[in-house]
Amino acid sequence: MNKKDLSSFKKILIQKKAELSNAQREVGTDLDTNVGDEIDTASQNSEREMCFEFAANDRITLNTINDALAKIEKGIYGQCEYCNNAISIERLKAISWTRYCIKCQEEIENPRR
Ligand SMILES: [Zn+2]
Repeated sequence: MNKKDLSSFKKILIQKKAELSNAQREVGTDLDTNVGDEIDTASQNSEREMCFEFAANDRITLNTINDALAKIEKGIYGQCEYCNNAISIERLKAISWTRYCIKCQEEIENPRR
């Protein structure tokens, strides 16, 4: 991968990281303002659970983005963690923080029996 591609991926990752950090803050604020309102507790609880689930997924993505940024520093960004082959640029453009090449991702999601 050339330096130009690498720095553009770095920019995308940093931007996505900022977006997710902001989203997490918003979810937290929402939950605080809902506390104390007891009218519709049941639906509020499920709403709250959804918020937490969303936040948990975001946290995982955030961690993966941090790992990807660390990989850029180490000079191993764009390499599949499973087979060590290069991940295609097209795939990285779609999901810049992906850990695996498309082949390994499919293998992980649908293991052959
Ligand atoms: Zn792979």
